[in-house]
Amino acid sequence: MLREPVVEQRVNPWDIAREQFDRAAAYLDIKAGVREMLRHTKRELTVNFPVKMDDGSVRIFTGYRVHHNTVLGPSKGGIRFHPDVTLDEVRALAMWMTWKCATVGLPYGGAKGGVIVDPKTLSRTELEHLTRRYATEISLLMSPEGDIPAPDVNTNAEIMAWIMDTYSMHRGYTTPAVVTGKPLEIGGSVGRSEATGRGVMFTTLEAMKVEEIPVEGARIVVQGFGNVGSAAAYLLQDAGATVVGISDVFGGIYNPHGFDVHALLAYAKKTGTVLGYPGADQVSNRELLELPCEVLVPAAIEGQITAENAPRIQARIIAEGANGPTTPEADDILHDRGVFIIPDILCNAGGVTVSYFEWVQDLQQFFWDEGEINNRLAQIMIRSFRDVLSVTREKKVNMRTGAYIRAIDRVAKATMIRGIYP
Ligand code: NAD
Repeated sequence: MLREPVVEQRVNPWDIAREQFDRAAAYLDIKAGVREMLRHTKRELTVNFPVKMDDGSVRIFTGYRVHHNTVLGPSKGGIRFHPDVTLDEVRALAMWMTWKCATVGLPYGGAKGGVIVDPKTLSRTELEHLTRRYATEISLLMSPEGDIPAPDVNTNAEIMAWIMDTYSMHRGYTTPAVVTGKPLEIGGSVGRSEATGRGVMFTTLEAMKVEEIPVEGARIVVQGFGNVGSAAAYLLQDAGATVVGISDVFGGIYNPHGFDVHALLAYAKKTGTVLGYPGADQVSNRELLELPCEVLVPAAIEGQITAENAPRIQARIIAEGANGPTTPEADDILHDRGVFIIPDILCNAGGVTVSYFEWVQDLQQFFWDEGEINNRLAQIMIRSFRDVLSVTREKKVNMRTGAYIRAIDRVAKATMIRGIYP
């Protein structure tokens, strides 16, 4: 199997998150103390925990759960299993969750969790042991009223089921609302698995209207073919666009005439990668980002679009399915070149929005049908896109700063209304 080092230069996501915050906060009249509070995380838990491996040995793993802010409500944010997880990455992702929830108006704060592990090197039993032990360790912070995790990179509905079961075993009764992104059978929501990709699709179609790009035949390139990238790709294809490039961690494929994304999905499920798909040229992840297209959807990991490659990006719209794929320097270059960026905290907020629907349904023990979920999601995503666009026009800033201004303003106002305790 071909493997390539995809991220040659790692940027510190926490530096980026704070710089994005500073840029937007400069437009707002926030008390210095409140501004400083919002630049910090609220609490950070590091856990080093043992896992019994199949060969009888015990390995120690390190994980984190970080709450950035809980002023608007319980904190919400996914759990990532990845060998490159760092505390700074989790901090940044937690802060982005605060702004994301505020951008789309959810009654949540921001959190994130991660374990330093490559889950592909674990057996299913080892993965379950690791998940259950990590869930127990972070249950100091996790609860339906306080902090509600969800899936992120390399975690899925099955892992959420183990977390929900572990928490419920400790409580002595079933507690579905402690985690979202669960299987339907145990209190998951219809529409959750493709919600992030669906939100990417809604916001991309809105951006195409602004940029006057017809959907029919518009060329789409997607980096990452996981939960977000695959759903964004087939939903944009179903809307009339043509997906010409797709990648995963092993590399990418390109066909200027387009793929059938549904067939590619079946192929990748069977082989474990998009590589080798018939009728396509192989490209590296770096080359993929620079392919000719109307819309580029980074949907893998952060730090992919930098000052180095931004001048060569050909897309007219960048729809940030991933969290933090673009550095602030790249933002400036792309803005000057007239590229329309739908920022992550808006573009990929469909996932947390349907997670919110799932949590509400679990708490009420009353479930909605898929039509209702998708309609409510469409309303929230389209309204939020238009609200951000109007801030952007009013303040003469780019979409990212516009989204941040809206989000920070909400959290800062709520903080000032509540007051600083004691
Ligand atoms: P996933 O694990 O389902 O898929 C990730 C995809 O990216 C896979 O195809 C993987 O092969 C590829 N990938 C991994 N490392 C890569 C690398 N170094 N270079 C290129 N490709 C790489 O993850 P996901 O849930 O689809 O999440 C993708 C991104 O979207 C992340 O930034 C995540 O934080 C963000 N996000 C996810 C959700 C959600 O609901 N799952 C919601 C909002 C944002």
